[in-house]
Order: sequence, then structure tokens, then C-alpha cells
Amino acid sequence: METVTPFKEIIDAIKASGGDAFKYCYQCGMCDTVCPWNRVRNFSMRKLVREATFGLTEIESEDIWRCTTCGKCPQVCPRDVKQIESGVALRRIATEYDVFPQSVQPIRRVSANLRAEGNPFGEDRAKRSKWAEGLEVKSFEEGMEILYLPGCYLSYDPRARKIARATVEILNKAGVDFGILGADESCCGESIRKTGDEALFKNLARRNISALVARGVKKILVSSPHCYHTYKNEYPEFMVHFEVVHISQFISGLIAEGRLVLTGEYGKTVTYHDPCYLGRHNGVYDEPREALKKIPGLQLTEMPESGKNSFCCGGGGGRIWMETPKGERFSDLRLGQAVETGAQVLATSCPYCITNFEDSRLNREDGKTIEIRDITEIIREAI
Ligand code: SF4
Repeated sequence: METVTPFKEIIDAIKASGGDAFKYCYQCGMCDTVCPWNRVRNFSMRKLVREATFGLTEIESEDIWRCTTCGKCPQVCPRDVKQIESGVALRRIATEYDVFPQSVQPIRRVSANLRAEGNPFGEDRAKRSKWAEGLEVKSFEEGMEILYLPGCYLSYDPRARKIARATVEILNKAGVDFGILGADESCCGESIRKTGDEALFKNLARRNISALVARGVKKILVSSPHCYHTYKNEYPEFMVHFEVVHISQFISGLIAEGRLVLTGEYGKTVTYHDPCYLGRHNGVYDEPREALKKIPGLQLTEMPESGKNSFCCGGGGGRIWMETPKGERFSDLRLGQAVETGAQVLATSCPYCITNFEDSRLNREDGKTIEIRDITEIIREAI
């Protein structure tokens, strides 16, 4: 493979991404002490920052693709170095030069699928609302209380579809007047942006925004923290503002308002995993726990690494589409932490986390001792 080292381009791209703060890095190494990669293999954010500061990044290296954008190192960095933004800037250059190491190659297929069908799986756009068959779900019309955007995983993945169906049952039970976009919904574009394809992200965002504006949408309900982050914090770059609510917040509100009453007994011990994009990136820690605590009989127990110290599942930053060898999967370690608490159920509220934990459940000897559930699946059992 031809070696590509575009020195000035790297430095310029990092500056343009807001990552000029790289120059403030004084190589303390705090980032490396909290990075989840160092639990499974050697990886140095400190070294990556050092190389990029001088434009010496090897664009064909696997290292620029490792960051899951979990948000742990910006939390401890004493110099406000923009590790995530700068890392994405490096990936943009690699995307521009079409240089992808072997483990990142699946991104090509994901991009092609997003272009053709508006979802990363390459499933038929026209079948986007097939998950809702047999349920009471309307098409969104102006004046409805809220638009529900299930996102790509919940629309197409057989395991994740159960989460969308549970959500609908909860909304109907609480008498929420909601609708969906169906085939007019496209991927929010979060993961493809993090892997460096800015043009494709913008296409997806514009298409979604057109659909939302045309339908008169004001308030959006999402299940994925990745959708939440993107609609809430990134779509305003296009000069639009929607009220965005994550399902954990919405359910918590429904319970507080007395619209949703949980009466069913759920006699299990549950430990809750904070998804990076709900917790660290958006500060939503309490609502999922508050909702779970309202379920009669449910006992909530915490893992030592929880809240802002939650341990990443490994799926962010587009890593959900990349190949991670056995022995290097963060979700295997996280599942072990959940098992150690003695909980019968590992609950979370993100489709990437659910997918990774379900895989780890099959890979680990002790995986059979614990169930993986989205919080909506647990709450549905209690209504
Ligand atoms: Fe540099 Fe910040 Fe990492 Fe310290 S924590 S090495 S200042 S990027």
C-alpha cells in the first residue's frame, strides 16, 4: 500500500476541526490511563496527539480508527485537547484518500448502503416500518404530541426490533399521541460522520431535516443515544432546532406525570450500564435509573465503573461497523463486570451496547448467567 503522510493537510484539518488545542498537550499521559483500549492492548492517545501535532500521523495506521469516542480522555485532560474532534479530522483525510486498513474495510459497505437505502444494513428503505407490523402505530401528522424515530438498528435488526416494539407498547399504554416517519426516516448519520465521511453525513442530515420540516415536527423521541446526540447537538449546525427527548427521559416523565403506572412485579436484580452518548456526552444518568427504581420488586445494583466513569461497550465512533478481534472487545470486559455484581439482568438503553453485550454473552463462559435488556423491555414487563 502506498504510504500517505500529508503533513500540512493533517495540521490544517485538525485546526479546522477545533483541534488546534493539540498544541497545548504537554504529554502528561492522563488520557492513556483512562483509555479503555489499555485494558485490552497497547494504545496511546498521547502518542497519537504528539504525532498529529507535527503532521506525522500515518494515515494508513489502524490507530487512528481505534478511538470509540467514549469521552473518557477529554474528561481528564488538563489541557482541553480536543481528542475526539481531531481524531475525526484524521479519519476525514483517510476517507478522502480512500485508505482503510483491513479491520475498517466494512465501512465501505456501510457507506454504500447509506447512500442507496438510507440505512447501514442495506435493507429496503420501503420496509423501514416493517418492525411495527401488528402494532398500533400511525404515520406522523402535524399536531401530534411527538414523533418517534426508532433509528436504523431498531428498524431492521431482529434483536433490536424488540426494543421498538416494547417502546410502542409503553407509549400506547400511556396514551401518548405519537407517529413515525416510516420510509421518510434516514439514518441520523452519526457513525458515518465519526468515521470521516462528512459529505455523506450532511446528505443524510439534510434529507432528514427536509422530512421533519415538511411534516411539521417539533418534538422528537429517540431510542438511540447516538441519534439523541446527533439530532440534539449536531443538527443545529443546519440552523434547525427540534426538541429532542431520549426514551429514558420520556418514560421517566410519563411516570412522574402519572400517565404511566408500573404495577407488574419484576423480581430481579438489575445493573444499569450508562451508554457513553447518553451519559458522558449528554449527562443523562438519573432518568433511566429513576424509571427502573419505580418498578415493583426490581433491585438496582451498580457496577464500580458507572455514571461518568462508565466503561465503554466499544461500539461508538463507528467501531460498531469495524472488526474487533476476540480478546480486544470492551463489551466482554463490561459483561464480566456486570456478572460480578451478581445481577440477573444487565440493562442499558442503546442499541449498540445491546448488540455488543448480546455478542459477549455468547462469547463468555459466564454469559448465560445474565440477561441483556433495554430498559424499555423491562418497563414493558411492568405495565
Ligand atoms: Fe496530552 Fe491531554 Fe493526553 Fe495529557 S491528557 S497527554 S495533555 S492529550
